[in-house]
Amino acid sequence: MTLSEFDLIQRYFQADTTRSDVAVGIGDDCAVLRVPAGHELAVSIDTLVQGVHFFSDIDPYSLGHKALAVSLSDLAAMGATPAWVTLALTLPHSDPDWLKAFSEGFVALACAHQVDLVGGDTTRGPLTLSTQAHGFIEQGRGMRRSGARVGDLIYVTGTLGDAGLALRAKQGLYQNTQDASKLMQRLERPLPRVSEGRALARLATAAIDISDGLAADLGHILKASQVGATVDIDRIPLSHAVRAYGDETGDWLLALSAGDDYELCVVVSEERQREVEKLAASFQCGLTRIGIIEQESGLRCRGADGRLLELGVCGFDHFAGYET
Ligand code: ADP
Ligand code: MG
Repeated sequence: MTLSEFDLIQRYFQADTTRSDVAVGIGDDCAVLRVPAGHELAVSIDTLVQGVHFFSDIDPYSLGHKALAVSLSDLAAMGATPAWVTLALTLPHSDPDWLKAFSEGFVALACAHQVDLVGGDTTRGPLTLSTQAHGFIEQGRGMRRSGARVGDLIYVTGTLGDAGLALRAKQGLYQNTQDASKLMQRLERPLPRVSEGRALARLATAAIDISDGLAADLGHILKASQVGATVDIDRIPLSHAVRAYGDETGDWLLALSAGDDYELCVVVSEERQREVEKLAASFQCGLTRIGIIEQESGLRCRGADGRLLELGVCGFDHFAGYET
């Protein structure tokens, strides 16, 4: 069975709005939305393309989850409170079973964060999903990439390298026996650190979410803030599986270079250290201090023996290697 564009929208995406700040939701030419007084609107869009951002065999529930999770992660990195989302769906065909599972994955995460789907677009073509998330920031309170100062401390939430290891296992590059399904969850159903981002917004001088790898994403903070940093490799929080992978292969740079973890990297002034660590005691995912901001530009990585390591090119760049 195939569905028309309008049936499809109505059946899978048009739910009653749950938020009082939605004046007009799905069904008109525009959504009409109210931003609370004293707040700014944070907006971010992300696109997932089959074959680039996910494998064709990903289950549609996970894909629905991930399409929203990556956008909520951007809001988390600014310390924003998510409110609304729009979804542009390009589908090769309208398969009801696929759409049902996709929308369930999307809606489950939306509900968990009290986010309403307020509009979108549906077209036919190679499977591509664009999600635009909207959130609120108290005026002037959002975390930016540009606020890091010399002497500030660098923290990350959760553990790093899990999604990268799952990807390696999936590509047959590593035979992992430990925690295989847990790792796959990290790749396919990342948990955006929304509450952590909101809590840290009061205290941080800069932040970013780790989508392209710690080295690349911390690099964006350093560039925007016109500073450098040293990260202690052995301080980077690792899961058992990533630690076992390091032991076995000697590749300890995975956690620095692999993307898709969607953890937060947050910079905090030294005076706030105690306050931040006290706050982080309530984070289920944990918060770990991994390095320090310095005047000398660039990112340096220090091994357990105190020696600085040479870093190759880290992180993912969609246009790397293309002629312009
Ligand atoms: P228009 O042609 O005026 O842009 P559409 O026919 O594309 O309107 O969409 C009708 C309504 O359905 C709009 O409110 C639009 O925001 C919504 N919509 C379309 N596709 C989606 C989708 N994939 N998810 C959520 N809402 C959607
Ligand atoms: Mg219209």
